[in-house]
Amino acid sequence: MTAKFSTTSKVNVTNDTGSVSFMCPNCGEFEIVRSQHDREIVVPYVCPKCGFEGPN
Ligand SMILES: [Zn+2]
Repeated sequence: MTAKFSTTSKVNVTNDTGSVSFMCPNCGEFEIVRSQHDREIVVPYVCPKCGFEGPN
């Protein structure tokens, strides 16, 4: 199993059951990974490929 790290906080979310990962909604080329903690405090993310800013 490949380790997964949050795009924003760089924490290992491999065993974080509350984490989510999805392809960038703008370019669809980069997988955004967010830990449960990121979601709880609504940490914004930026796609390193196209510069799209989320969470929306
Ligand atoms: Zn993107």
